[in-house]
Amino acid sequence: AQQQPAKGAPRLLLMGQRRSGKSSISSVVFHKLPPNETLFIESTARIQKDSLSSFMDVQIWDFPGQIEIFENSNVTFDIDAIFGEIGALIWVIDAQDDYTESVARLHHTILNLQRSYPQINIEVFIHKVDGLSDDYKFDIQRNITIQIQDELSDQGIDNAPVNFHLTSIYDHSIFEAFSKVIQKLIPRLGQLEAMLTNLCRTCRFEKAYLFDVNTKIYIATDNTPEDMSSYEICCDFVDVIIDFTEVYGSWPRTQQWRDRLEGEPWDQPLEDQVACDRAEAGMILSDSQRPIMLREVDRFLALVAIMKEGSYDKMPQINMNVDVVVKGLEEFFRITKQKNIVEPTI
Ligand code: GDP
Repeated sequence: AQQQPAKGAPRLLLMGQRRSGKSSISSVVFHKLPPNETLFIESTARIQKDSLSSFMDVQIWDFPGQIEIFENSNVTFDIDAIFGEIGALIWVIDAQDDYTESVARLHHTILNLQRSYPQINIEVFIHKVDGLSDDYKFDIQRNITIQIQDELSDQGIDNAPVNFHLTSIYDHSIFEAFSKVIQKLIPRLGQLEAMLTNLCRTCRFEKAYLFDVNTKIYIATDNTPEDMSSYEICCDFVDVIIDFTEVYGSWPRTQQWRDRLEGEPWDQPLEDQVACDRAEAGMILSDSQRPIMLREVDRFLALVAIMKEGSYDKMPQINMNVDVVVKGLEEFFRITKQKNIVEPTI
């Protein structure tokens, strides 16, 4: 059964011109629609509220391109209800089309938001960059960035929180961009990153990610440089585990099972901290002989890490360290999770 998010969660708002790709983005990222099938989905024709079951209770409000909420029109929008609690506004620009009008509207929107809601992050997705050469992509990004920043500074606004991302639903860039957007909304992200960085050091992991399993967005990673290929491998691994679980189901692993698997001396009880009913999985990547592991943290989150070649022998020690970090992560989210905010209505 679909788990419903709590009310009053931080919201993401998806806006942009008609056909820029908003419905496709939310279908691919939040509902696992294969990218090719977006060719047939209907363009957004009304405001859609789409809440997803995720650890952060993000809501996607998909706005149709032709609605101009700040302009006088026949419909009056309750601006406060729309923007009052949002964490980030995602503005989608179709990079394969003429983007002049979209950029003009974006500028207009930022100006309006800066007046009343300067805390909202504005995340510009320069979208559909698949099929464009690298040079061309970066040219577009530079043009749009300069245009927006120049216009804003002409109006005396120099520090608006505007960020730009190159995205496509046909590769992992859209997930990567969402990860960046969501990470900014996590209170005390630095502490999470520090936990993962320490874990990488003690366990000789190459890279560790904390995944929101349903969406494959990563909530945090360690402080080694970003590496798209590790992220892609970990995403695929999450998919494999989900498919596997769907076919074979899941069941709690007993302490005896675990003891037998790990043997002396690693079966010593770790006081109160060994949880035996969480999903865990390990494999060795055939190209590089590096082990990869997944450990469930709670019903939404999983820790996924790529290890250094040959570290499979150290699995018992690694499991012990991972247990401790998983416990720490649980505690972290118990403390930082927002609760009991009343959801606005429009
Ligand atoms: P909306 O009106 O903003 O909701 O736009 P849609 O989601 O309906 O998308 C319009 C068209 O853009 C669809 O035919 C999608 O298949 C296509 N599209 C969306 N994202 C991408 C992308 O990343 N790359 C490419 N090439 N096409 C995309």
